[in-house]
Amino acid sequence: MLDPGHGGDDRGAHGPRGLSEKVAALQIARAVAAKLEAAGFQVAFTRDDDTFIPLWDRAKKANEEGADLFISLHLNAARARSARGSEVYFLSLGQGDDDEVVAAENAGAGAKPTSGPDSVVASILDDLAQKAYLQDSERLAVAIQAQLNRLAGIKERGVKQAPFIVLRGAAMPAVLVETAFISNPREEQKLKDPAFVAKVGNAITQGIRRYFAAGNGTVRRRAVEGPK
Ligand SMILES: [Zn+2]
Repeated sequence: MLDPGHGGDDRGAHGPRGLSEKVAALQIARAVAAKLEAAGFQVAFTRDDDTFIPLWDRAKKANEEGADLFISLHLNAARARSARGSEVYFLSLGQGDDDEVVAAENAGAGAKPTSGPDSVVASILDDLAQKAYLQDSERLAVAIQAQLNRLAGIKERGVKQAPFIVLRGAAMPAVLVETAFISNPREEQKLKDPAFVAKVGNAITQGIRRYFAAGNGTVRRRAVEGPK
């Protein structure tokens, strides 16, 4: 399940020349989908147009689809315009590594599902379903981060952990990818280049393939069978 961040009235972050995170995230998701499908994976989207989906509903969709992985796609923003490269996060149950990023991504989450017989959401979505998948999520994050670092020519960026709401209810390994810094004029420019976006799609796909190749008991076969 690919989850392009933001959408609709929620534009997310934006670059110095006006590129919206919601637009760039959807383009990246489509590029990832193309590469994944070429590699034999089945792909679904939480959104594949300019619609806002509340954060809690995104994991719910993945759970209902029986997705093997949940990949939330975002663009990073920092006050320092020189900040560049990718960061891949998995869920932290406590404090996060970067409060600014967490605040930006958790904004506009909508109401948290309440437990109780009247709540349809709560019957499908366990607020902390992700807790059971943290080890695999970390492994997935490491695999994707390694490929994105290669693409960016950056060695020092590592995997991070943070309390992202969008990951909490996902009953499968789940990561949030801050693909590049939209606040960096050079990275914003690159994000407008379909060839670069395709390379990002390829890097994330390679990370996913390596994650599966390393073995994972929780994954259903259909995701790893390859082309039909
Ligand atoms: Zn975002």
